[in-house]
Amino acid sequence: MTPGRPMAEVPDTDSFPEIRASARSCTGCGLYRDATQTVFGAGPVPARMMMVGEQPGDQEDRAGEPFVGPAGRLLDKALVDAGIDRAEVYVTNAVKHFKFRRDERGGRRIHQKPSRTEVVACHPWLAAETRLVRPELLVLLGATAAQAVLGSSFRLTRHRGEVLSADDTPCLATNHPSAVLRAPDRDAAYQGLVDDLRVAAEAVG
Ligand code: SF4
Repeated sequence: MTPGRPMAEVPDTDSFPEIRASARSCTGCGLYRDATQTVFGAGPVPARMMMVGEQPGDQEDRAGEPFVGPAGRLLDKALVDAGIDRAEVYVTNAVKHFKFRRDERGGRRIHQKPSRTEVVACHPWLAAETRLVRPELLVLLGATAAQAVLGSSFRLTRHRGEVLSADDTPCLATNHPSAVLRAPDRDAAYQGLVDDLRVAAEAVG
């Protein structure tokens, strides 16, 4: 670790509950200050498939659970359409705290993309989850998650839907469900997500 650089400190243990509990008090970067709570991953450990998003949204921040807001509901539907049982998937985010700004009136919280420094600071939690979940396939939802795992030069537009490898773990990058919600042609974007998830389902047999 570079001295002075923000970084999460993960306890040296193979206990998933211990690691998850420790993440609740993480101050590895500045995002813990304004968010409600750490939103750690959820699902079976180990799991054959692990999905990684960008960061918790407004509803996830309040609930303390990943993918429970509008993007999570779209993901649930896409998983059903791709023949994947969400109960068998471990879901998490590259960054565990919600980054936002207030709208002009100081009320609504508006999502802000985490910086590269924040993604790197939070990476030890993601690495610990991957080590303990031992997925046969990592599904990376959106460019932030894909670059967190595959490096900042990775281009989602070029390699979307391909089965690649990161540190010997097969992975596949696709669009984040929130990008599908914002897409001008939402039906086509949704179908693209489902098609990629079908490739993911085939990759884990
Ligand atoms: S975003 Fe990650 S590194 Fe930053 S405080 Fe939250 S858990 Fe720690």
